[in-house]
Amino acid sequence: MGRLPQKHYLCKQNNAAGRAPSAPSGGKKLPIMQLFQEDNVRQGRIEVICGSMFSGKTEELIRRLRRARIARQRVEIYKPGIDTRYSAEDVVSHDANSIASTPVEAAASILLLAGEAQVVGIDEAQFFDEGLVEVCGELANRGKRVIIAGLDMDFQGKPFGPMPALCAIAEEVTKVHAVCVRCGALAYVSHRTVADDRRVLLGELEEYEPLCRSCYNKVQESDGQGPRPEATAR
Ligand SMILES: [Zn+2]
Repeated sequence: MGRLPQKHYLCKQNNAAGRAPSAPSGGKKLPIMQLFQEDNVRQGRIEVICGSMFSGKTEELIRRLRRARIARQRVEIYKPGIDTRYSAEDVVSHDANSIASTPVEAAASILLLAGEAQVVGIDEAQFFDEGLVEVCGELANRGKRVIIAGLDMDFQGKPFGPMPALCAIAEEVTKVHAVCVRCGALAYVSHRTVADDRRVLLGELEEYEPLCRSCYNKVQESDGQGPRPEATAR
């Protein structure tokens, strides 16, 4: 953690944490540490945070990782090399709340890199290869707490990459939701608003809108594609 530049602590929540009595500056263990112990039990396990775009997945990942740091645990964060929307080295969420991370090309690299970490964060996990499932299992078996954030479904509502298997092997799965931009219900899918069939299209609110199931199906029908097969045939 000594390698993290100060600029990575410039968000609101980070500043608040920095002012807390548990700030790393003094090195003294203070009573406030007790507040975080239940979140930082030193035992291997897998936690998955999944949901659509704009659902707060990365914010929740950063929140958990920051608390682990406050508890003085060694934290390492990885993301796929493909995700270079804002910064090559930071896990960046849509509210510019960032934390330093290491981009890696293949899931197997995480196993080699995370040797000393007690807590391993993985962002945008849907873009990793299927090998990530085995890697996360092995990390947890080695006693590490693995916290994974990723899109549960792609823009067509199909389970995305290794996410379904990761949800299956995780001790804890947290599904977070964006708000449907059309009706205000809980969103369930990231609808792509531009015509592009590529599965991986990194984007912002101009390219995607969170929609609930009902609004998503209406959009599909008005696009002339008919309702989704899953919505009618089963
Ligand atoms: Zn809706």
